[in-house]
Amino acid sequence: MQCPACNQAMLILEYKGIELDHCMDCGGVWLDAGELGLLLHGVPEPPEELALAGARSGARRCPRCPRKMDLGRFPHSAVEVDVCPARHGLWLDRGELLALAGEQAGRPETDAVIRHLRELFSDEQNRMKEKKT
Ligand SMILES: [Zn+2]
Ligand SMILES: [Zn+2]
Repeated sequence: MQCPACNQAMLILEYKGIELDHCMDCGGVWLDAGELGLLLHGVPEPPEELALAGARSGARRCPRCPRKMDLGRFPHSAVEVDVCPARHGLWLDRGELLALAGEQAGRPETDAVIRHLRELFSDEQNRMKEKKT
């Protein structure tokens, strides 16, 4: 799958059977519909929960369909995300997945995910540095 931000081929990172499409180039992550809930709470969120408050049209295209994604925030969230209007999923720029997870910190299962994501992404960055040097 192509990165919606920079068109590079994305790498699949697997966590508890959830496939996160991660762009090594820009550090963004694509989550299919349901995966954010699965990741944070172990339960897939229903598609209507991908509705954004104050959404506006963005320039990036959904990696699953030709439509341009909407930009906006989930209710009660400060993180701006890109969501496919056909609800295929959402795109998170570098750091935004951790920021979204961080907003729900304090629950044991979410804290475990946050720790894992930190390791996952710092590993990726270390590997990138090794490749370059
Ligand atoms: Zn990218
Ligand atoms: Zn789509």
